[in-house]
Amino acid sequence: MTATIMDGKATAEKIRAGIKAEVTNLKVKPGLAAVLAGKNPASQVYVEIKRKTCDDVGIYSELYKLPEETTEKELLQLIDKLNKSEKIHGILVQLPLPKHINEEKVLEAIALEKDVDGFSLVNVGRLASGREAAVPCTPKGVIRLLEEYSIDLAGKNAVVIGRSNIVGKPTALLLLNRNATVTICHSKTADLPHYTKKADILIAAVGKPKLVTADMVKEGAVVIDVGINRIDGKLIGDVDFEPVRKKAAYITPVPGGVGPMTVAMLIENTLERYKKITGAK
Ligand code: NAD
Repeated sequence: MTATIMDGKATAEKIRAGIKAEVTNLKVKPGLAAVLAGKNPASQVYVEIKRKTCDDVGIYSELYKLPEETTEKELLQLIDKLNKSEKIHGILVQLPLPKHINEEKVLEAIALEKDVDGFSLVNVGRLASGREAAVPCTPKGVIRLLEEYSIDLAGKNAVVIGRSNIVGKPTALLLLNRNATVTICHSKTADLPHYTKKADILIAAVGKPKLVTADMVKEGAVVIDVGINRIDGKLIGDVDFEPVRKKAAYITPVPGGVGPMTVAMLIENTLERYKKITGAK
């Protein structure tokens, strides 16, 4: 078997085109503010991609690049200003924040209606109780890609490797809300292959290059690779792509899989927040 490649780039392009068409007809444009504190090189790249995508689809954007020494108080003051701004409908704080800043405090300071990443405790609670509102972008992108390829989730064994609040846990909850039987594996899981071999749908969100090898994958599985690892200037995922491709039914590439979907979901979430705030249809 050679897996069908799930084309996140093309799917994201389609979603972006739909959003662009909708935004063109709006007199007042949706606005997204992205806040970056510190010098994390990957974060610098991500916020620039997000800003460029906003420009491409006609979403107004503000990008705040704050120095590493920014205090928690200064960051909270900026969030407060953005909460009050009429031009801004979505606020995104790029994680990780510098160590001296309390991440939870900052995320909780974002006005609920502008929580475009869905990281607030209220939105996490909504997701956990099956009442999805603002859903984190990467997990939402994973589900959208599965839908694009008509992958049935109900009753399927889904295994998520990784339990972060940003990717692993919300992805597991979204799968559960769609009636998959979900197992979450993590760094303390004993015998990871024992679980992965049973997965009809396998999602790797770890950040360890080629952690998932072909012997860990069930024949005909759907394999979604969320991982992004930079090796010798090249991006690779958590899945040993070529050998796993020979065994799986579907697989996402890195780059060109989940990454572009994440950005597409961010602008979709911005438009959703805009509609909620302005009452626009
Ligand atoms: P994280 O470091 O917060 O979490 C990693 C998780 O992997 C943890 O829950 C940990 O328990 C688990 N883990 C670590 N070693 C393991 C092992 N040997 N076996 C099983 N589990 C193990 O990372 P994150 O923020 O969740 O991101 C995960 C990966 O996804 C990273 O590579 C990140 O760059 C990538 N990412 C991609 C996108 C995208 O848009 N494609 C978005 C966010 C994150």
